[in-house]
Amino acid sequence: MREKTHAAQDALALGFERTGVLKSMDEKETQIIPKPYLASPSMTKDVLERHHFAWQKKYGQNFLIDPGILEEIVRAAEITEDDLVLEIGPGIGTMTQYLCVYAREVVAVEIDRMLIPVLEDTLQGYPNVEVINQDILKVDIAQIAEEKNQGRPIKIVANLPYYITTPILMNLLEKRVPYESITIMVQQEVAERMQAGPGTKDYGALSLAVQYYARPKVMASVPPQCFMPRPKVDSSVIRLTAREEPAVRVDDEQLLFRLIRASFNQRRKTLVNGLKNSEELNFSKEEIEQAVTAIGKPLTVRGETLTLEEFAALANALGSAG
Ligand code: SAM
Repeated sequence: MREKTHAAQDALALGFERTGVLKSMDEKETQIIPKPYLASPSMTKDVLERHHFAWQKKYGQNFLIDPGILEEIVRAAEITEDDLVLEIGPGIGTMTQYLCVYAREVVAVEIDRMLIPVLEDTLQGYPNVEVINQDILKVDIAQIAEEKNQGRPIKIVANLPYYITTPILMNLLEKRVPYESITIMVQQEVAERMQAGPGTKDYGALSLAVQYYARPKVMASVPPQCFMPRPKVDSSVIRLTAREEPAVRVDDEQLLFRLIRASFNQRRKTLVNGLKNSEELNFSKEEIEQAVTAIGKPLTVRGETLTLEEFAALANALGSAG
């Protein structure tokens, strides 16, 4: 058996109860795993100092230090002991410890190789976690679901690095990664955009893309003091529950999203002008006007007032024109 590392020793020496009962799938035996102990400023500082950790600003590292919020995230994600959970960006493993207690198995993907020895230390004693040192954008998540969850949908949980929230999310949604839900900490303003409806200031391409693939629901607001270091903005936990089918039927999905992007690229223009001026589209003004009329809208309509259903109808009308 490997020697216990400092953090694990400290956790026990400090008298943390060992709870968290896990049924090992292979050995069919009951294992005892440590109670999560990292979620405090002093424990986080201690682990970081012991490992001489150098913050990588470019990776958006804001570690959670509030146990209440961590419990809320796990509750919001509705994790059960049947679940395979993918964690994006485990950091020093604070949330990972909670996930290990509640889930059957956890796969944690961390880009910063300096955090790998830290995770080996802090996840010592948790037998149901695999850490992968990789950029999440390069990981084949479908393969993980196939190998570790017999292809069944997985749950994804993350305190996302804010510099790359949208690319990570769009990658998950567009690639049709098999997920049941995605529960993520994001900037509050981004969470509001995901939930926004037509005609509001937050409504845009992100709202429509998220709502096409999933049902978003903000689960909690999180102030800066729950993190180390503190971000400059407020945060929210949002859960995206996968839809079995996209929210609307459309003949050409790529055309739908090109139309959406073109409409919001030029917010103050009419929809007709926005689509006409787009470099991504190649329709004549007449074709666009006919399609806008066909979906029952005036030629002066602005793109930001259209619902997802109306964008889909427009895509179908233009698709048959082209
Ligand atoms: N989950 C930890 C917590 O809540 O304390 C850390 C969250 S921190 C906001 C984001 C983490 O994602 C960092 O550990 C960072 O190094 C990692 N990260 C940043 N970009 C990543 C990427 N492209 N792929 C995987 N991990 C990434």
